[in-house]
Formats: sequence, C-alpha cells, structure tokens
Amino acid sequence: MLHFDVETNLEKILILANAKEVENYRFKDFLKLRNSDVLDAEVLILNNSITPQIDCTTCGNCCKSLMINVSEQEADTLANHLNLTRSDFDEQNLEKGGTMVVMNAIPCNFLANNSCSVYQHRFEGCREFPAMHLPDFNKRLFTTFMHYGRCPIIFNVVEGLKAVTGFV
Ligand code: SF4
Ligand code: SF4
Repeated sequence: MLHFDVETNLEKILILANAKEVENYRFKDFLKLRNSDVLDAEVLILNNSITPQIDCTTCGNCCKSLMINVSEQEADTLANHLNLTRSDFDEQNLEKGGTMVVMNAIPCNFLANNSCSVYQHRFEGCREFPAMHLPDFNKRLFTTFMHYGRCPIIFNVVEGLKAVTGFV
C-alpha cells in the first residue's frame, strides 16, 4: 500500500486551496484527458492509503456545506432512532420540493461539536461522500474540486494524484 503523509489541518488546507486555485484549474483540464479506467485505479489506490489516516468522526467539515438528500426509509430509520414521529422529524429537519427531499439546514442539524450525532444512522449521501471509491472519477471533477478546500480526503487524494500522474 502507498503511504502519504496527509494534511488534516483544515485552516491550512483552505489556505493551500486558495493558493493552488489556478494550478487546480489546469489539473482539472489535465485529468479530463486521462483514461478514465486508469484514473479510477489511481484514485482508488490513493484513497485506500489516505482515508484510513483521516478520522471523519472528528472532522465533520463536509457536514457544514453538503446538501444531503434524504430517502423515505432513511427518514423513517432516523425518526425511529430519535424517538420522534415522522411528522415531527420532517418538520424539524426536512425540506420537501416535488420529489426532492433534503435536510433543511446547512450546517446539518445533526452536527454537534464537529461530529455527527447520528453517525450510525447517517444518510447514504453522507456515507458515500467524498466518493473517491466510486468509478467515473472524471465525471465528478466539478463537485470534487468544489470540496477540495474543505475535505481533507479530497485534498490529499488530489495532491497525491498530481504526483502519481506526473502533473507536478
Ligand atoms: S447526518 Fe451526520 S454525517 Fe450526515 S451531514 Fe448530518 S452531521 Fe454530517
Ligand atoms: S468526508 Fe472529508 S470533510 Fe467530511 S468528515 Fe471526512 S474528511 Fe472531513
């Protein structure tokens, strides 16, 4: 397994993200030309090395900016866990627009002291983020780079990718 020294200081990551803004525009264009399967394999190797070194339960930074979709089943499970009726749970936490149901607050209502208070019952969207383990990385460049300055996993994977691909 590859080993990278990871950066987890959120303030430092934000400063670096601002400093690397132009470089990252160029890197995004560079990645668009890379073979998708090769890129997915590179991201997966980096992700497998970096993610175990980062503790999401004490970071919670994505919970301050993500808009989370909530399914009926997820709402049922969490309402049950919180001993709330579905109507109380919905009133307190959900925004409904057509078929879209999302959490009604950013930062998320369940974030407490930078930690998820319902971690075992968090939503699929929370579990999936930042999706570095999923295929078609090059189709998610916009959202990935949108969160580059906020998510230590994304920051470190992208920086590792710059080295692995020979971009820097
Ligand atoms: S449910 Fe938990 S993990 Fe998901 S956004 Fe809210 S605080 Fe974060
Ligand atoms: S996914 Fe990223 S931003 Fe969210 S808690 Fe984990 S390291 Fe922090």
